[in-house]
Amino acid sequence: MSFFEKVLIIDDSPIARELAARAIGDVADVIMAETGKSGLVKLLEERPTLVLLDVKLPDIDGMKVCRAIKADSRTKHIPVLLITGEETDADTETKAFEAGAADFIRKPMHPSVVRARVKLQLELDLRARALNAANIELQRLASIDTLTGCMNRNHFLATADQELSRMRRHDYAVTTAVLDLDHFKNVNDTYGHAAGDEVLQQAAQVLREIVRHEDSVGRLGGEEFGILLPVSDISGARTVLGRVQEAFAGVRFSGAPKDFSLSASIGISEVYHRDAKIEDALKRADVALYDAKRGGRNRICVSMP
Ligand code: GH3
Ligand code: MG
Ligand code: MG
Repeated sequence: MSFFEKVLIIDDSPIARELAARAIGDVADVIMAETGKSGLVKLLEERPTLVLLDVKLPDIDGMKVCRAIKADSRTKHIPVLLITGEETDADTETKAFEAGAADFIRKPMHPSVVRARVKLQLELDLRARALNAANIELQRLASIDTLTGCMNRNHFLATADQELSRMRRHDYAVTTAVLDLDHFKNVNDTYGHAAGDEVLQQAAQVLREIVRHEDSVGRLGGEEFGILLPVSDISGARTVLGRVQEAFAGVRFSGAPKDFSLSASIGISEVYHRDAKIEDALKRADVALYDAKRGGRNRICVSMP
């Protein structure tokens, strides 16, 4: 584990501060404060990994300082080790935990005990942070399509369902589209699967570049994408998706022949208030997409109400 985290010692006794600082000097950078008030100021300025906090301070009661640290969203994640007096009884220990302390150290402090408890807390904190980072990454991986970087199907549907609820509250037009690349099997068969993958990536990039920031693009599966255009009526959606079609003609892959040209068929549907789920609107867009394919591909068809 990486040591040299920052530890703040809040204690009015110079002897206690020195003892603690020496005990943990080789595992952390130590900063000090002599009063509760100056301790809270330093805490916000320095954002240490851990606080060693004396319960008996000249200005504010240490328990109170601990509660203040735990009540502030900026500092509540910072573990506090309370330093309790010689007369510490079960009641004080319980109160320390109730105030939000991670643990306590009893005075007179023994350097080896201080060091062991601080090391343990730093290690726990490091593990908690690693877990947190792993969770964030896991969430990201669970929501994107790894090949294209677009939202995956589930994430797209969840996002679109949220938009559906927002639309119901605010009453604006939302349009959804299903886009399917034309004769994509030919790309794989003629130029290989790797070329197909590259075309999919390029197509996704084109889509993301052309739609607005508040629009969503998800890979519904294979070579099929879902697009959600909030605050867009059918005619607005037609304009945007027409631009996508034009840009698709410029999609290339490594070693693509000069005459290579990509096209897509698109089905569009308005999203209705009565739609229970976005999938209801996507089903209508799918029917329109089928019309576009049957009508000769490389075209946009709109679902009839
Ligand atoms: P249509 O114009 O009717 O849509 O014809 P199509 O060939 O595009 O449609 P079809 O559904 O017959 O074929 C889709 C192809 O997409 C077949 C499949 O191998 C390919 N495909 C699906 N996912 C991927 C992928 O991740 N990478 C690559 N390279 N190909 C994929
Ligand atoms: Mg296709
Ligand atoms: Mg398909």
